[in-house]
Amino acid sequence: MIIIDCIFCKIITGDIPSNKIYEDENFLGFLDINPAGTLNGHSMLITKKHFPNKLEEMDDKLIKDFFVVLKKIISAIKKVSGTDSINIIQNSGEKAGQIIDHIHFHIIPREEGDGIIISENRQHKKDNLKEVAEKIRNSVEN
Ligand code: AMP
Ligand code: ZN
Repeated sequence: MIIIDCIFCKIITGDIPSNKIYEDENFLGFLDINPAGTLNGHSMLITKKHFPNKLEEMDDKLIKDFFVVLKKIISAIKKVSGTDSINIIQNSGEKAGQIIDHIHFHIIPREEGDGIIISENRQHKKDNLKEVAEKIRNSVEN
């Protein structure tokens, strides 16, 4: 399903141009219009079907296929950008930095001193790791 006012749906239909790096029946990959870091190749992998930007919303089968495609794209981007280091990022929810509400993964090639800061704030809440792990374990649905 295509959502009329969704930028990524418009990229899929071709109403908004993009620099495509991959396309098949279910997925589209294209360069981020505002690439992060210093190396070429910051890309986006999206589903052609519109899902909100939450992995939990996607069909299980599609998720599996998605990661197989992601693997291929990772290899291609590493090769082209000449690095062995990348970040795979999925900003889900406004507080996580999400701007576009159509499921997407960023694939960002990295090099030293590229200025990207993923997470530096790690000094808090180390005392209750055991309890937190148990709560999450008990909340995982089969
Ligand atoms: P997010 O914060 O994860 O929702 O990221 C959305 C990303 O989409 C940003 O990195 C934008 O630079 C990128 N973006 C927005 N519009 C376009 C576009 N027309 N073509 C390619 N990338 C886009
Ligand atoms: Zn969409």
